[in-house]
Amino acid sequence: MSIAPTEDAAIDIRGLHKRYGRHIALRGIDLSVQPGEIYGFIGPNGAGKTTAMRILVDVLRPSAGTVRVLGQDPRAGGAELRARIGYLPGELRLDGRYDVATLLTYYADLSGPGGPRAYDWRPLAERLGLDVTRQVRGLSKGNKQKVGLVQAFAARPELLILDEPTSGLDPLVQQEFLAMVREARDAGQTIFLSSHVLSEIEHVADRVTVLRDGHVVLTSSVAQLRTQMGVRCTVLLADPVAPDTVAGLDGVRTVQAAPSDPRMLTIELTGSPDALIKMLSRHTVLDLTAERPDLEAVVMSLYRQPDQDGERA
Ligand code: ATP
Repeated sequence: MSIAPTEDAAIDIRGLHKRYGRHIALRGIDLSVQPGEIYGFIGPNGAGKTTAMRILVDVLRPSAGTVRVLGQDPRAGGAELRARIGYLPGELRLDGRYDVATLLTYYADLSGPGGPRAYDWRPLAERLGLDVTRQVRGLSKGNKQKVGLVQAFAARPELLILDEPTSGLDPLVQQEFLAMVREARDAGQTIFLSSHVLSEIEHVADRVTVLRDGHVVLTSSVAQLRTQMGVRCTVLLADPVAPDTVAGLDGVRTVQAAPSDPRMLTIELTGSPDALIKMLSRHTVLDLTAERPDLEAVVMSLYRQPDQDGERA
């Protein structure tokens, strides 16, 4: 896979390998996240997402390959680099002895850029409906996740690295979280977030990399994925039209007439619908539906393919 030179990438990963003893978790991954992007990192259990993210924040060290985060090697960046990153770990461990407010104030004092209490975590906690008077020990999984999100987002860091951020969140909070991600991007922040499923993040992500068994199996913009998948139109005409006359039109991939009713055509479009619409305008159209096939289904098929050494890009 070739990746354009990315001198000023927010995240640049080249040939990254990671071994845990005899087990190989990452087998040479390449990935580049541009500043201001929302970048999805998708993969099934054990694909290597958490391993790669931990390397980005220097919780783990690579076995081989190079990693640059905000232009620096995470090993050399130290506290100064960490202060520019908001990190939500996959397995969030919170000190249960405190109440939420005390813990969030502690995080703010610890990592607030420009000194203690340089950021206010309260508006975000309120937005996510977090009861900050509660003891951390008794919080549900979803509420613990909210604490993790607040500490990651509140300082408005240049880069957010979020490992399974939607895990444990109810659908309403998930929507709020996605709105926060969009707002962060609009404010110029970069977001790198992982998920098991594309559908959770496809409406916010600009680009995605799909990882399986430590390999990159796909890197694409979400828009390009959608375009490649095309659109399926079902048209009901007042009079039958020979499928062949539709099949030759620009942008049309396949055409099928319904066996039970030759007036009904199912048309797969991979390009502009313009030629089809102009042709249909010469007929009486009784009904028309258009739908995009499920992107998730494409990603799931990548999960199931047998392992291979090559990459697909
Ligand atoms: P999930 O979606 O389940 O969190 P993941 O994509 O984040 O998975 P990783 O947690 O990075 O995947 O794990 C990648 C592989 O490395 C897995 O096979 C896992 O069992 C293995 N692994 C992870 N951590 C260790 C460790 N400390 N020691 C040995 N093997 C490990």
